[in-house]
Amino acid sequence: MPDATQLPITVISLDPAPTGFALAIHGGAGGQIQELSLVERGNYSAGLADAYLVGEAILEAGGSALDAVCASVESLEDNPLFNAGFGAALTATGEAELDAAVMTGAGRAGAIAVSRHVKNPIGAARKVMEDTEHVLLVSPSKGLIESWGLETVEPNYFVTQARLSQLRNVQSELMAASRHGTVGAVAVDSRGHVAAATSTGGMVNQSEGRVGDTPVIGAGNYARDGVVAVSCTGEGESFIEGVVAHEISARIRYLGATVADAVSGTIADELGSRGANGGIIAVDPSGRVVVAYNSDAMFAAYRHDGELVTLT
Ligand code: ASP
Repeated sequence: MPDATQLPITVISLDPAPTGFALAIHGGAGGQIQELSLVERGNYSAGLADAYLVGEAILEAGGSALDAVCASVESLEDNPLFNAGFGAALTATGEAELDAAVMTGAGRAGAIAVSRHVKNPIGAARKVMEDTEHVLLVSPSKGLIESWGLETVEPNYFVTQARLSQLRNVQSELMAASRHGTVGAVAVDSRGHVAAATSTGGMVNQSEGRVGDTPVIGAGNYARDGVVAVSCTGEGESFIEGVVAHEISARIRYLGATVADAVSGTIADELGSRGANGGIIAVDPSGRVVVAYNSDAMFAAYRHDGELVTLT
């Protein structure tokens, strides 16, 4: 393992809420100033709050963690401020190649990678999980998406002016940092089941065909009933090499670590040690939420003492 200087880790650990369910969402980790130069900070907060409330309403009505995380992620995918779905980060050739994954605590998972046709990638990941015998499909065709009854779009639907200028800035090295993003959600429902969903356009200026950690089950997204649900954002290669989301679950399951210790220890051992940065949200079956990151900033939303908190 290379000897890299550890970046400081911020850890927010919340006591379980009395509601009997819990939700946390994220809108990516990265360099605050660069991300916020795309638009006003308040718009990020509003987008996070909207996405949070959509998922929370499902849990409040007694719905499943799976439905809640998919609804929150879909809301963030539709918001061009976040790096997923409409307005996703672009590859070096200026295209959107989208990845998404979903997993239930019962151990079912579905994912898509290098997706160009489905309007909401998280919905396609869920279809892979529920309607196929597979876990990961690469570059699902328009016909396949249509056969699942999901909305299709032309690939240029995802490409926004803001992302094109971000790509130009990164390519001309005006913007070296803040090359990443991603959205995700974790939840535990009133029956104690957990689920995690994550969706991304990947890293700005990534090579065409590059697939990050998001659709790699156990790297960027993982859930196990009785243990934890995890969604990650950051430099995907390190999350894959460190099998980060599963590593967090394993530390809780085998070492009896708290969620906060499992998350912060994994960030230090698997990201910091590789010189990588990113952020993680996690929830355990008791409803304890952890948000932690070693990046400059993390976009997230959660409820604390009854108040909706948005982090930007
Ligand atoms: N983890 C994503 C990827 O590597 C990017 C991100 O979260 O910023 O594709």
